[in-house]
Amino acid sequence: MERVTLAVGAATDVGRVREVNQDAFFATPPLFVVADGMGGHHGGDVASRIAVEEFERADAAALTAPTSPVGSRLITLALESAQVRIAEYAAEQGAVEDWYAGTTAVAGMLVHDQDRAAWLVANLGDSRAYCFAHGRLEQISVDHSLVQEMMAAGRLTPEQATTHPQRNIVTRALGGPGVPEPDFFRLPVASDTRLLLCSDGISGMIDDAAIARVLAEVPDAQHAAERLVADALAAGGLDNATAVVVDALARVGQSPD
Ligand code: MN
Repeated sequence: MERVTLAVGAATDVGRVREVNQDAFFATPPLFVVADGMGGHHGGDVASRIAVEEFERADAAALTAPTSPVGSRLITLALESAQVRIAEYAAEQGAVEDWYAGTTAVAGMLVHDQDRAAWLVANLGDSRAYCFAHGRLEQISVDHSLVQEMMAAGRLTPEQATTHPQRNIVTRALGGPGVPEPDFFRLPVASDTRLLLCSDGISGMIDDAAIARVLAEVPDAQHAAERLVADALAAGGLDNATAVVVDALARVGQSPD
């Protein structure tokens, strides 16, 4: 069994404009989640907390070396449970006009397939997963957002997307109708790679080059997460900002068993 030592950092901040932090995170190996709630009057903050609670309840830490199929089943079930609970919560609130409770979710889970360590990543909405390795930042998840769809259709450049007035509109999330349909990604875990999960309060405030610079310059995972949040605030802090940084420090070949 290939063993990976992880170092974990996490930070969140309400930002400089919003009154409530509707972001939430969970970071207990082997599972990491960032959720960005949407909807005022305790719609968004409760929805993101419910999502995080369902991942916590899934208790992935109790599993020894889960495989990709086990991991994707666990993530799918956590999202489905969250979806049910958010709908129940919305029903309790009654049909107040324009009231909405929804949340994005991006999850990363360390899995082992044929004894090889890998990151299993899943997302709903525009919270992102990035991988940083050998000085290069790669976005793993693809946003479920209106501007992402417009870019894919060639109707918008990435530069235009960063300032588009509808850039906050997500096309998939928890809290909508139907069964949540996350996208899954799988990437091998190499030594000295960093996984970053973040809300759009990070990726919408500082660009990928600035994110890469922090991940290159700040070796400690907790300090890197705090720096990303601090830089997002310094860039204006227009949204809640959350970063979870997970470092795969070393791989120790085969264990005796
Ligand atoms: Mn946000």
